[in-house]
Amino acid sequence: MNIDWSRRAVRQCVHLHPYIPGKPVEQLLEEKGLASAIKLASNENPYGPAPKAMDAIRGYAGGVHRYPDGAAGSLKTVLAERHNVSPEHILIGNGSSEVLEMMIRTFANHGNEVVYSEHGFIMYALATVAAGATGVAVPEGDDLSHDLNAMARAVTDRTRVICMANPNNPTGTLHDLDAIQVFLDRLPRNIIVLLDEAYYEYTSVIIGDAIGRLDHPGLVICRTFSKAYGLAGLRVGYGVGHADVIDLANRFRAPFNVNLIAQKAAMAALDDVDWVLDKVVITLNERTKLEAFLAEHLLLGGTSHGNFVLLRHPRSMNILRMLENKGIIPRPLAPYGMPEYLRITVGTVGENTRFMAAIHTIMEHIQ
Ligand SMILES: *Cc1c(COP(=O)(O)O)cnc(C)c1O
Repeated sequence: MNIDWSRRAVRQCVHLHPYIPGKPVEQLLEEKGLASAIKLASNENPYGPAPKAMDAIRGYAGGVHRYPDGAAGSLKTVLAERHNVSPEHILIGNGSSEVLEMMIRTFANHGNEVVYSEHGFIMYALATVAAGATGVAVPEGDDLSHDLNAMARAVTDRTRVICMANPNNPTGTLHDLDAIQVFLDRLPRNIIVLLDEAYYEYTSVIIGDAIGRLDHPGLVICRTFSKAYGLAGLRVGYGVGHADVIDLANRFRAPFNVNLIAQKAAMAALDDVDWVLDKVVITLNERTKLEAFLAEHLLLGGTSHGNFVLLRHPRSMNILRMLENKGIIPRPLAPYGMPEYLRITVGTVGENTRFMAAIHTIMEHIQ
């Protein structure tokens, strides 16, 4: 018997498309018969995990027959000290994606609305639909940055959550903290504001630290170990918010949501600040170089504040295929409703050189 499971699944799930990650390197090598390929699709740290994290991963391998600390107590304590809050203000997730999802699931449901910007991080829309709530996508301004006025105006008495990445992925735009505070002051006190700072380490020297400075009762600031700390494969992130808010979301948490190795590696990575900062500085220099190169070739799609750059061209998909033929994997932004754009993660110095050489050749054929 053929069962049509889509008729039995909850209605909202049928209309969802799975999150499309960057193409895995192995798949490209096999498809194209290439010897080497570089992945510039997922904004990972190309220099690898922080070295102290690698030591911790090896060191705790013999301990994985035991369940981890379900409350991630030690990691929470270290993070609390770092951010000058008490541990009750912190929610740890299997990646910050899980923190975002837990928050949306806790506070939004059928009949509620979740507000985000049109080209916001795709997870917000997925988590909203999964929670049975209604997403309200607010168009950005001409410069692709969040239209904070329009977002504030989109709030109704059905709104439970607002999601906003700063800097935004994939558009790379950044708001300073004063502008965000003005926005927060316009919002009702009883809605949750998820301020997603996945790229915090790349912007902290420009805008400073939002934790302890921004003020709103429903504010939850989300950070991750997946980007600058180089631990994307382990899945650890966290949110910092008011204790009552964190407590409610914590009740929805699976008992052992963050694995042992992830907890230990994250703690060790926090102890490797110099390494992280060094890689951030190199990445920012490389980003400047890549953006100047793209501008020279009339391909620059905007100024980015993350560890990625934007390429814009009407034939972006041709460029994507030609890059893939040369073993380079960028991220097409068509799924984000930006078909002319490719997002390219800032790689190592060598990877960026290879990318620029490839674009140079490709553009001779595309003009
Ligand atoms: C990469 C990214 C995250 C982090 O996801 P993890 O689940 O922590 O790996 C969150 N938000 C945005 C906007 C991102 O780009």
